[in-house]
Amino acid sequence: MVSRVIPVDPFDLVIFGGTGDLARRKILPALFHRFHAGQMPAEARVIGAARGEMSTEDFRAFAAEALDEFAPGQDRVWVDEFLQRLDYVTVDARGEDGWGDLGEKLRPDVVRAFYFSVAPALFADIAERLSQHGLTDATSRIVVEKPFGKNLETARALNRTMASYFDESQIYRIDHYLGKETVQNLMAIRFGNMLFEPLWNSQFVDHIQITVAETVGVGGRGEYYDTSGAMRDMVQNHLMQLLCLIAMEPPAKFDPDAVRDEKLKVIRALDPVPPHHIVRGQYEELEDDEGRHPSYREAVGNPRSRTESYVALRTTISNWRWAGTPFYLRTGKRLKARSSVINVMFKPMPHSIFGTEAGEHQNTLSIRLQPNEGITLGVTIKEPGPGGMRLIDVPLDMTFAEALGPDGHHADAYERLIMDVIRGNQTLFMRGDEVEAAWAWTDPIIEGWESRNDVPKGYASGSAGPADAELLLRRNGREWRGINP
Ligand code: NAP
Repeated sequence: MVSRVIPVDPFDLVIFGGTGDLARRKILPALFHRFHAGQMPAEARVIGAARGEMSTEDFRAFAAEALDEFAPGQDRVWVDEFLQRLDYVTVDARGEDGWGDLGEKLRPDVVRAFYFSVAPALFADIAERLSQHGLTDATSRIVVEKPFGKNLETARALNRTMASYFDESQIYRIDHYLGKETVQNLMAIRFGNMLFEPLWNSQFVDHIQITVAETVGVGGRGEYYDTSGAMRDMVQNHLMQLLCLIAMEPPAKFDPDAVRDEKLKVIRALDPVPPHHIVRGQYEELEDDEGRHPSYREAVGNPRSRTESYVALRTTISNWRWAGTPFYLRTGKRLKARSSVINVMFKPMPHSIFGTEAGEHQNTLSIRLQPNEGITLGVTIKEPGPGGMRLIDVPLDMTFAEALGPDGHHADAYERLIMDVIRGNQTLFMRGDEVEAAWAWTDPIIEGWESRNDVPKGYASGSAGPADAELLLRRNGREWRGINP
């Protein structure tokens, strides 16, 4: 099934940090794919901006290498056509040179977007200079990357700074999880099917699990990661967003503020998490066929680090729909599988007409975000063959790639999100008050660890995480689904 592509309006997209890792791995390949798909119009222009002295030709060569590595196997003609759309300007976010040059490259009458793909410490400098040099107007769009603050106070300060230069309707705070096809499908599944919504509440749902598991360690991000940890790096943003989409009330319409209002209500209704409902972990070293993999502490170069590379927690939402239903969240690095999945575990039948030997069965709806995007509904059927009424659970599986057909390339989250910026659609971007509310819930948890000098539990690399995380569910007769041993 080939999706219909509607070209966006002509635009000038300036990427501050155009020579950085994110631009190389995600932004430039995403733009190329949209160009190839016919969505990025011929008149669109992408301007890399950074301090490095570089000609436009150098930047095009840099982009060509990025595409070779992160969008390999492309037709040279298409790549060359795309590269013609690229330009470069040398500019220092903290200096005065280069801003005039940038201004000269920008065209009137096209959508103007500025992607802040630089350290957050530079956001204010760039915003101020854009404004001083008159490079933005009320229709310009500003894209900012995570992390958006490191606690409520810093997020508020950042929001205030941005608000002094731009209107909230101009600010696009990226959480790339929201751009994933399956994450949007969460809304389609919930609000486009009569089947699920009547059951989507504490009366029929026993509990919900959200897992985002990675096999990789901290890699080259050790220094940054050690000041952050899984709670700040993953839970406050990605897992929180998934929780919101799963738990929110139906918005009146699929419009940016209607959706974000409902998400905000969920975050504000989240209960505080007591210490005995959280497990933190740090991965240990591993020796396998590929050699020796360092422990977390070694990888970040901090032998006394108390930063968690794993967190699992149980929370509840104090509202009419979800009162009393546990939401279990877990995320970690160096786990046994790469898997992002949401499991909605329905309650067992109130009474079995088949007697106790049929066992207790429970429907499960699994929504896989990666790998293998798709949904599986676990249903109970009769075990085939003679010999009585024995029941078994079987999966009704739909893998999107199979069901929707191979149309070659499946759009990456960044492709969708950047095109949404150009279209001016903020539905899949976090609003300032959402980010602040998420920090307001996260901060006391982190402050609690700090005040108690909490030390994360070690866990074996390649495992499902610390054993205590199993107990978090087992205490209530439940178990994790997805990446368990
Ligand atoms: P990076 O590889 O360190 O690149 C930073 C970029 O900013 C370079 O192009 C650098 O070029 C430019 N830069 C640095 N100081 C500058 C200044 N004073 N004025 C103008 N340009 C300047 O960083 P990154 O990994 O691409 O990350 C960029 C942002 O995305 C960060 O906020 C990060 O947290 C976020 N992010 C990154 C990833 C990822 O996978 N990489 C994922 C999620 C979020 P010059 O040195 O030549 O100026």
